Amino acid sequence: MSLKTRILGLAALLIIAAGTASWLAYRALSEDIIERWGQQVAEIQVRYDSARLLQSLEREIGLARQMARSSTLIQWAQSPEDPALENQAIRQMESFRSNFRDNSYFVALRSNGHYYYNNASNDYAGDQFRYVLSPDKPDDAWFFQLIEEGRDFHLNVNPDTELGVTKLWIDVLMRDADNNIVGMVGTGLNLDDFLQDIVDIGQDGITTLFVDYNGAIQLYRDRNYIDFATIIKPEGQKNTVDLLFDDPQDKQQILGMLQMLKQRNGEDGAVESGFVSVDGRKHLAGVAFLPAIGWFEITLLDLNTLIPRSYLWPLVAVFLVSLLVTLVLFHQIIQSRILRPVISLEEAVHRLRDGRFDLPYLPKPDNEIGRLVDHFEKMSHSLQDTTRELEQKVAHRTEELQRLARVDALTGLKNRRGLDEVMNEEIQRAEREQKGFGLLWLDIDYFKAINDSQGHQAGDEILCRVALWLKAAIRPYDHPGRWGGDEFVVLLSPCDAATLEQIACRIRASVEQESQRTGTSVTISVGGYFCRPGEDLDALLRNADQALYEAKRNGRNRVCIRTAAGEAIHPA
Ligand code: GH3
Ligand code: MG
Repeated sequence: MSLKTRILGLAALLIIAAGTASWLAYRALSEDIIERWGQQVAEIQVRYDSARLLQSLEREIGLARQMARSSTLIQWAQSPEDPALENQAIRQMESFRSNFRDNSYFVALRSNGHYYYNNASNDYAGDQFRYVLSPDKPDDAWFFQLIEEGRDFHLNVNPDTELGVTKLWIDVLMRDADNNIVGMVGTGLNLDDFLQDIVDIGQDGITTLFVDYNGAIQLYRDRNYIDFATIIKPEGQKNTVDLLFDDPQDKQQILGMLQMLKQRNGEDGAVESGFVSVDGRKHLAGVAFLPAIGWFEITLLDLNTLIPRSYLWPLVAVFLVSLLVTLVLFHQIIQSRILRPVISLEEAVHRLRDGRFDLPYLPKPDNEIGRLVDHFEKMSHSLQDTTRELEQKVAHRTEELQRLARVDALTGLKNRRGLDEVMNEEIQRAEREQKGFGLLWLDIDYFKAINDSQGHQAGDEILCRVALWLKAAIRPYDHPGRWGGDEFVVLLSPCDAATLEQIACRIRASVEQESQRTGTSVTISVGGYFCRPGEDLDALLRNADQALYEAKRNGRNRVCIRTAAGEAIHPA
């Protein structure tokens, strides 16, 4: 895996890890915020719904109470058989009817159980006495139950089978001066209208319901859940609020809230809230007690509807886009700050390893890599300088060695190899220019004897002196050399036969004379040969050697020049 892939992979992992951590933190935080917000919203909603309910009911309850206090009605309730009182009472009822919101009323007398009623369309004008309540009829049980309980005020959701209406009834007890219950008055509100106006307000995600003091559902958008005629039902058969929840814990929680609020009796508009599950969806429940009517108001907020999860998609999109942008930027930065310099450096290292100093362009970012590249560049420059110096030294040494390989160590003259080279060159030149040259072959006479008598060291010194005298006796452009042992060779070019002979004689004489001055007399024999164009090295050497041999044979310390014709000339 390349460095780039690794770094980008690592960066992506880190960003995703950081993103996930931030996401979890955000989730926790947002849930906390949503909870707090939800609780506040629930409290506000509960207060608002309660206010709406009370606003609609308070006036009706006030009127019903006023009606219950009517002296005309109380008087008549005490003497229901008096037709004059009944007429007055009916007039009074009818005046209340026009004031009630539903334009309906009922009055029930305790003494004879007579039930009076008229509705908005005035269907029962002159016929307000509808029927007689009987303790034996279950439908009438509400009346007798309320009187028995002696509760002055009660709200009751109940169908009236005799009248064929289902209403939210406001029941108020009517008492005489001695506080004896003489009857019951009130009005009814059309349940469907009321549910539509107050309960089923059609706000998405918000459900409102009202339950009575014992938790029985009184007002709810689904009529099937409403506990009609609660008052006459024994405990255990009521539709209580816990029916709405599946989870036993939620049931407990809601009932606990009711309990708690009962204890506080609605002080300071207290609201309890908590999370519950309704139809498998998480809801926030807010509960308030309404002391004015003895009911509880419950508001259920569906958080998923109020704050749908799709709200979070832009956040996810922002995260993904920023991940992408970060990776692209990261890629650019890694590319320009790290990878490109490193790749160029690698290429440069390869070239240097192959001995090439023409480095590619090396980018130097302002970081550790840039400094490394700079160091590398300086190092390669100094390596280049050192290499150049070394090469020069090697060239010098080689040249020196090559020179030394052609030089005789003792005398400093050319050695045999050096002589071979100049002789070959001269043979080629002679051929090219069709101009001959001369070769002298010299050998010290009785050198063995000198060695033997004076020692090898002295012999060496004599070899050196002979070399010096030899050099002094020839022309600057001639090539003297030591062939080996006590033998010397001189190549003379340009040269003719006369010059050859002349120089040969001069050398011999010079050695003889100079040596005498040193105290050790040394003589040499010299063989000379004038080589003509077209002759090869073998012929040259053979002829010169033969001339030398001649000189030795003829008594030494002399010169013998051999001509091309094979004759030997012996100069004086
Ligand atoms: P001739 O007159 O016939 O030349 O007699 P010679 O004694 O000189 O005999 P030759 O030339 O054959 O002998 C050469 C001698 O030179 C033999 C060897 O001991 C001696 N010699 C060879 N190389 C060196 C050297 O480098 N130093 C010394 N001191 N002696 C050498
Ligand atoms: Mg000799």
